[in-house]
Amino acid sequence: MPQRPIRPKLGQNFLVSATAQAAIVDALGDLAHRAVVEIGPGRGAITALLAARAARLIAIELDRELAPRLRQQFAEQGGVEIRNEDVLETNFAALRNADPAHGKLGKLLVVGNLPYYITSDILLRLFHFSGDIDRAVVMIQREVAQRVAAEPGTSDYGLLSATAQLYARVEKLMTLPPGAFSPPPQVHSTVLRLTMAPRFAELGVVPEPFIAFLRVVFAQKRKMLAKNLRNAGYDAARISSALAASSIPSQSRAEEIDLERMARLFRELLRS
Ligand code: SAM
Repeated sequence: MPQRPIRPKLGQNFLVSATAQAAIVDALGDLAHRAVVEIGPGRGAITALLAARAARLIAIELDRELAPRLRQQFAEQGGVEIRNEDVLETNFAALRNADPAHGKLGKLLVVGNLPYYITSDILLRLFHFSGDIDRAVVMIQREVAQRVAAEPGTSDYGLLSATAQLYARVEKLMTLPPGAFSPPPQVHSTVLRLTMAPRFAELGVVPEPFIAFLRVVFAQKRKMLAKNLRNAGYDAARISSALAASSIPSQSRAEEIDLERMARLFRELLRS
């Protein structure tokens, strides 16, 4: 089939390294009895490997020319569905519930060499559906991967790290140079494995209000946590006593505080 022009606006950098294609699919684990969702299959670099191994494959491609090509390519392969839609509108719970094996395939596995222009939005969407997803193996820009995986107390740690680590265990699997793609992007890329393991119950917090609180404390990353809280309207005396009760020094910045102490601070502020 003749190649059509690439759409850079859709983040189309196709993975051409066969070793990386195989490693990404291997990182999902055994697929024989699993339903897999691929985000942005593009020209099918990893789709063929997935289709051969998974019990069910749903591939979500926004490009209205690539989607019908993929449909044609996989027409003979049972258990493969190509959806021409925006992954930011995909309802992962509905995909899981539409399992023709009536729930026997368990939670979804998600994989994708993501379109980098919407990386954070896709990750947030996966976290929103964390109850329906077992794990996700995603290729993203190296710098963003470093932020997702960063530990508290490092300069990369921020709202994205805290949010991701509330929902998932994060592993960095490999980093690829631009030459592994065609056309080559201007950045290096890293494959992450996110094993969904939400920590809200263990931390004693409710997801939405706690994430809204994280947005407040990280609002101005370089400012003191107390200052960000004051800017959001919290009373100074309440802040001081809640910081002390949470063993957080008053001059701390949010990036220095682990999730356990941050959750404690949140609970203390709710109480006082
Ligand atoms: N998986 C292929 C590969 O590795 O060669 C293509 C990866 S390419 C980096 C990203 C793919 O995501 C492109 O095929 C692009 O058309 C598709 N895409 C971009 N935005 C999308 C969206 N909002 N929803 C679904 N797919 C999207």
